[in-house]
Amino acid sequence: MKTIQHLFDNNKQWAEKISQEDPNFFQNLSEQQSPKYLWIGCSDSRVPANALLNMDPGEVFVHRNIANQVIHTDLNCLSVIQYAVDVLKVEHIIVCGHYGCGGIGAALDDKSYGLIDNWLRHIEDVYRFNKDKMDKITDPKERINLLCELNVIEQVANISNTMTLVNAWKRGQDITVHGLVYNLQDGILKDLEVSSNDRKHYFTKSIG
Ligand SMILES: [Zn+2]
Repeated sequence: MKTIQHLFDNNKQWAEKISQEDPNFFQNLSEQQSPKYLWIGCSDSRVPANALLNMDPGEVFVHRNIANQVIHTDLNCLSVIQYAVDVLKVEHIIVCGHYGCGGIGAALDDKSYGLIDNWLRHIEDVYRFNKDKMDKITDPKERINLLCELNVIEQVANISNTMTLVNAWKRGQDITVHGLVYNLQDGILKDLEVSSNDRKHYFTKSIG
């Protein structure tokens, strides 16, 4: 059996380094978390939320899945959003995709990947909603990158239509949803400028 002793060694070094810089860091953090941000990003190992935001543990509440999707029936993601909004009272929800996303690429090709094909079906829906824009582009990489952006915009709309956000905004909670894309080539985040702090931006039908 292969061991992961090197991970325990890494962990010890990391904890010692932080404790040297701030002896009370872990004690303070263990007593409460009060992040201002919920990050919904891709599971891709190259897009770690805290690292690229230059934030310490405790500063960002994180949910990640393949191709950073917010599916209306995904209780995992919906529970994270509800807890972040209702209990932690985050001020910002960030959906972050990344250019060259393998999940987006897989949704665009004709291959079968097994169970995950069902998950990627939602990306194919985003393609269908934006078929005119997508079909104007022929370069495969550009098509993936455009769909990465369109997918983020769709997820911002999905979040804005969750009961959690609808109710939060109805009671006057100040919370803004943002759509970003991360560039693996230079480490820079791009704001897609689709921020929403009111459901009217992504209104689909009246609730309540
Ligand atoms: Zn990805």
